[in-house]
Formats: sequence, structure tokens, C-alpha cells
Amino acid sequence: MVSVKRTAARMLFGSRYNKVPWGQRVYVRPGERLMREAQWRLKLRSARVMSLEEYKATVPLGEIEEFLSCMMCGDSRQQPLFEPTGGRTWRYRVVRCPSCGFLYRNPNIRPERLGDLYANSYSSFLTGKYAANRQRRYQLTMDAFAPVFEHGEGRRLLDFGCGAGLFLELAEQRGFDAVGVDLSPDSVEQANARLTKARAYFGAPEDVPEIAAGGFDVITLWSVLAHLPRPLEDFERFRHLLAPEGVLLILTVNAGSLLLKAYESGWSGFTKNHLMFYSSATLPTLLGRTGFSGVAYAPHYGDTIEAGTSQLPGPLRARLRRAVENSDGGNMMRALAFADDEAISRWGQRLRVRRL
Ligand SMILES: [Zn+2]
Repeated sequence: MVSVKRTAARMLFGSRYNKVPWGQRVYVRPGERLMREAQWRLKLRSARVMSLEEYKATVPLGEIEEFLSCMMCGDSRQQPLFEPTGGRTWRYRVVRCPSCGFLYRNPNIRPERLGDLYANSYSSFLTGKYAANRQRRYQLTMDAFAPVFEHGEGRRLLDFGCGAGLFLELAEQRGFDAVGVDLSPDSVEQANARLTKARAYFGAPEDVPEIAAGGFDVITLWSVLAHLPRPLEDFERFRHLLAPEGVLLILTVNAGSLLLKAYESGWSGFTKNHLMFYSSATLPTLLGRTGFSGVAYAPHYGDTIEAGTSQLPGPLRARLRRAVENSDGGNMMRALAFADDEAISRWGQRLRVRRL
């Protein structure tokens, strides 16, 4: 199937775009955005919609799994779309909610069995060369939502799912009074070795008195949202932990990505441990239902484009930016959620805020 697509692409575009990295090609080849969007609409029209009972009858359920209805709108109907796989090590199914368009893994992982997904080597994956790229990505995202992250003095920040502390390190450099929580004890140990003022804790926010007391000006979720099996409960908790004028920053894979429309089950956002896939069409439901007042987005053009290190010629860089904006289809979604109207007045001045 992939080779058929490659052959078709070669016939359409010749070799002109062979030097463009895979993750950028679909954004720069002329006409490809419109073609992929049409292909996507056709897929949605032709994919079957089943009742949950029908769906359960066709799909095996693993020991650590459970069947879900849509967590955003409650519709139990299922539109099976994808079966991503990681070689022989994992495979799962992704369905779309026919009412609200939410994409989620179904069957999903039972929350109490989430630990089974994470291998012991997870923390070593979060350091090394990966660390430098991650920190660049954090810097670029903070810049995109300026001035929220410019001066941290006198402001409290919680990094939920802090891993080895790569972001906490930047937060303390910017003057934030920063704490983090994570469910991997190895990562928390590494984080505390890295940090000077900021602290990382093992466990859930409610397990750590200093964090459970709330009053945070900023909460950050870096590549965490897609891992949450009970997002509504978590976001209600985040909302309570925020101080007046507080904001919540989200970076996650974008279910509206043009790369998903192009590569389908082979999309990079379908990783082993991802459970739910949000876009700017579905995130407002989660935020609105849990008491947030507004949300703003910063389109993601890719780290090399934003950092100015991309090898793409200027006209192609411009074309990529236009394709991302016109499709709302960058590969990552970056969102800033506002706890209340005061937060919108204080931090939303330079942003396009959608009220919830
Ligand atoms: Zn739904």
C-alpha cells in the first residue's frame, strides 16, 4: 500500500521534492493539501459507523483493556478508522466518534493497568540527544505564547508529567517557582539531580501536599494529554489547582494533522503509549466541560522551521507555513487554556482567543 502511494506520488510530483524530509513533503507539494483533505472526507464518508455492541462483537479485548464510548460527547457509536502497529511489538485500533469527530484508541487501556505500557527503559529515552531537541521545542512553544513564559518571578508553575525535568530546568531558569510530578520514580530521581531550585515529586498531584494546595499560575502538559485515560477527571483537577488568572499549556499530537490524513495508520502520532488524539475541533469540549473560559492556539510549523535551521528553500518554507495555517494541520497542537475571564484579559491580548 505504501509503495503504491509512493509510486503515485512519484508520478504526480517527479523527483523535485525528494530532498524534502518526509514530515514536510505533504505541506509543500503543490495541490497536495487539497488532495489529502478530499481523500480524508471521502474516507469519513465511506467508513462504516457501528453501534458499540456491534463493534464489541468484532474486536478482541485484551486483559488490560476496556471498551469506551466517546469521552468528549458521550456518543457510544464507533467509526473504526485505523490500526496502527509497531512491528510485532504492539498493535491497536483507533476509532472516530461520528458525532464530534474525536479520535481515540478503542479498546483503550484500563487506567489501573497503565503501568503495564511503560517499560523500565522509559527514563533513558527521555535524556541524551532527545533532551536537546526537547528543550528547543519547549523554548519555541514558550515563545509562541509570549509573554506568558517571559518572566516567572513570583509565579508558581506545575509541570504535570515532568519526566526527567527537562522543562522544569528551563522554568527555573526563567524564574518560576516550579514543581513537577511524574509516575516514573527513575525519572523523578533524574529530574531532582538536574534541578537546583525546582523540585520533582513521584505520584499524582493529590499525593503531594504542596501541590494539592493548588494556587498555580501556570500548569504545563508537555506531550502528556494523549496519555491520559480519564481526561475529564484530570482537567477538573487542573482547573481547581489553577490560581485566578491561571493558564494551562498543552502540547500534544494534532489529530487534524495533514500527515495523519496522508499517512493514516502509519502516522507518527500513533505511538505505543498514546490513548487519545485531540484537535482544535475536539479540545474545546474537554476544556469547556471542565470549567475553562477560553483557548488559543499557536500553529506548529515544525521545530527546524521555527528555529530557523531548516534546509528548505525560502519559497517552500513559505508554502509550508501557508499549508499548516490553511489546514489547521501542523503535526503538533499547541494550545493555551485560560482558567477565567481575568486570565484572558491578562494573557490573551496578543492571541486569538476562542471563548468557551
Ligand atoms: Zn464524541
